[in-house]
Amino acid sequence: MSAANNPQLKSWVQVEPHSDFPIQNLPFGIFKTRYLAPGAGVAIGNFVLDLVYLHEQGYLDGLGLPSGIFNQAQLNGFFALGRKKISSVRERVSELLQYDNEELNAAAREIALVPMAEVRMLMPVQVHNYTDFYSSEEHATNVGSMFRDPKNALLPNWKHLPVGYHGRASSIVVSGTAIHRPYGQIKLPDQELPVFSASRKMDFELEMAFITCGESKLGNPISIKEAEANIAGLVIFNDWSARDIQQWEYVPLGPFLGKNFGSTLSPWVVTLDALEPFRVQGPEQNPQVLPYLQTEGKRNFDIQLEVYLQTEKSEATTICRSNMKYLYWNVAQQLAHHTINGCNIAVGDVYASGTISGPSPGSYGSLLELTWNGQKLIELSNGESRTFIQDGDSIIMKAFASNNQVRIGFGICEGKILPAKSL
Ligand code: MN
Repeated sequence: MSAANNPQLKSWVQVEPHSDFPIQNLPFGIFKTRYLAPGAGVAIGNFVLDLVYLHEQGYLDGLGLPSGIFNQAQLNGFFALGRKKISSVRERVSELLQYDNEELNAAAREIALVPMAEVRMLMPVQVHNYTDFYSSEEHATNVGSMFRDPKNALLPNWKHLPVGYHGRASSIVVSGTAIHRPYGQIKLPDQELPVFSASRKMDFELEMAFITCGESKLGNPISIKEAEANIAGLVIFNDWSARDIQQWEYVPLGPFLGKNFGSTLSPWVVTLDALEPFRVQGPEQNPQVLPYLQTEGKRNFDIQLEVYLQTEKSEATTICRSNMKYLYWNVAQQLAHHTINGCNIAVGDVYASGTISGPSPGSYGSLLELTWNGQKLIELSNGESRTFIQDGDSIIMKAFASNNQVRIGFGICEGKILPAKSL
């Protein structure tokens, strides 16, 4: 395991005990300020460490980094250097931040550390391709029970391959970006013909997504053993869903306009390196999967997930607590399956897990499941209630891995729903 993961490490930067960003984390993101153009940074406590400055001043010399690699509005160029290079930068940054390291003097620290309150976080990568999987057995079972048959909730293929579809890269936005409720065709149950309407069943999907740092040539599968070497890290992902539009359009080719009006990701890419201490065994896979999908050891991640709903009148109320460890299909299986036919991947691709629901009703990762398609009300802290999202509501997602020594957090993935815009 990387020396940067040592739970004993302490930084000269003051980090509060429950911070998402202790020295053991050091996620990468793209930030800008009133004075600084967009560039790469690392989160530490309540600060962003400016990688552009560190690189320009020679603090990252010896790592073989191309000049200007952090002075860009996306991490794609840096990620394209590969997993090993990303690890070496994280390890060097860890050294520079350790409490007994004085390479950065007081003046340099002052310039290199930017308070988070003064930055605006941007999309961490330029996303060329986005795929959404459907990897939670509990979610697939809930949806199958609701819309098809509780006795045959999972379709016959589900335990043999990680089901997925190609999503829309152009509408992925960073946390903090508001989303307009979509208009579309809706088939109301008591009417024969569809109507054109703003969605009445606006929902979120609690997901985690991995971002690739590798690329492959068309025709060349990535083996399951190589899969993780192509993954830079994870972000929180909200796959906003208009359930009524989705339900009318999805047969036979799958999700389309009920999904592609917006998806929100969290700005900090937490490296797989930082998550090493939180590896766990995934659920037992029975029936046994085909050899190209077989993995050994701890391939899942124990990452706690929380969803909050905040209205214009209420404080944020927790409406879901789940965990990434529930996923039936792990990230290596997702990427190996995605490329087994020769499909090529690019640096900065986003691969979302699918809604992550757990076994108990409080762990369901969408309002569709939490309210059982609008049949149950969710009570909020101020007495308001919801079945689906109303205009002005915000959905806030948090994710963190923690043990008794260290907490590796993801920050937040937040988005507000604005009224629909007509033609
Ligand atoms: Mn989804």
